[in-house]
Amino acid sequence: MSENIEKVKCLIIGSGPAGYTAAIYAARANMAPVLYEGMQPGGQLTTTNEVENFPGYPEGVTGPEMMVQLRAQAERFDTDVRNGWVTKVDFSGEVHKVWIGENMEKEIHADTVIISTGASAKYLGLPSEQKYLEMGGGVSACAVCDGFFYKGQETIIVGAGDSACEEAHYLSKLCTKVTMLVRRDEFRASKIMAERVKKTANIEILYNTETEEVLGDGMGVTGARVKNNATGEVKEIPATGFFVAIGHKPNTDIFKGQINLDETGYIKYEKPGTSLTNIPGVFVSGDAADKTYRQAITAAGTGCQAALDAERYLAAKEG
Ligand code: NDP
Repeated sequence: MSENIEKVKCLIIGSGPAGYTAAIYAARANMAPVLYEGMQPGGQLTTTNEVENFPGYPEGVTGPEMMVQLRAQAERFDTDVRNGWVTKVDFSGEVHKVWIGENMEKEIHADTVIISTGASAKYLGLPSEQKYLEMGGGVSACAVCDGFFYKGQETIIVGAGDSACEEAHYLSKLCTKVTMLVRRDEFRASKIMAERVKKTANIEILYNTETEEVLGDGMGVTGARVKNNATGEVKEIPATGFFVAIGHKPNTDIFKGQINLDETGYIKYEKPGTSLTNIPGVFVSGDAADKTYRQAITAAGTGCQAALDAERYLAAKEG
């Protein structure tokens, strides 16, 4: 065995709520977990301002603060948290091989692997959108997380899939008005979801409409300038919140060909209700396998499941 190969009992890939919860459970079960933080230490929550729906924080907590606390809790039980990301895996043999770093400078042989690489929300990519997203000034990709902050105000939501419909409906219960920007002349969403949106009095749907710029006053969003791609008409829509619901991309590219993924790249559970994948000893938790719920609390719950399943797998193997 070459000297840069390290053997570990439990390798956790990713540092969102799923990864850290898996680490807390694995560490307390004496599995000496090693956790690689990945490209975005702390995961998607580090781009969220206030988290008010995670039980146990009656006053709310900021996303970054919550991730610092989760990390501290994992380290309290001696999780080895490391900076770096996985660039290649080989799950074809008895030992699960994982390479770390751009030049694959480190090779790890793990008895168990817990995948918690999460997903990334897609954005339009406009500089004005990114500016207000980064400063927490009114751009969000999660209505369930951030909609409450726009209670009694006007918001805009971009997208026409099931997520956009679900989120528009959620916002309509909080906001005085929701303007939905649909880039084609029809929805992609299922009929039932689209119909519900169409029937909601305070949701205005603008078809054939694309965002040219998110408008703001330097502190926060004040609206959007939009263009009708059929007529060329340009207009401004006032709003304090700009929600983007144009899909997510699971961070699973490195697992292609190694593990069963669905047609959109989400890791498939081998057995519903567990964290098992089709590879014995490899488990999944969080948004890498979840396109429905995508919440910190559900990610944490599946992180716990993955650690317990990994512990049971090791116990059965060791007899
Ligand atoms: P989808 O990929 O289904 O929809 C994305 C939407 O965003 C499409 O309407 C698309 O437009 C639009 N879009 C993409 N890029 C842009 C852009 N640059 N500008 C403007 N609009 C854009 O993603 P979802 O997240 O909605 O759903 C993902 C999966 O999860 C689906 O299978 C869905 O059914 C499922 N889901 C199910 C739910 C449920 O059943 N409760 C809830 C949420 C999701 P266009 O149509 O023109 O391509």
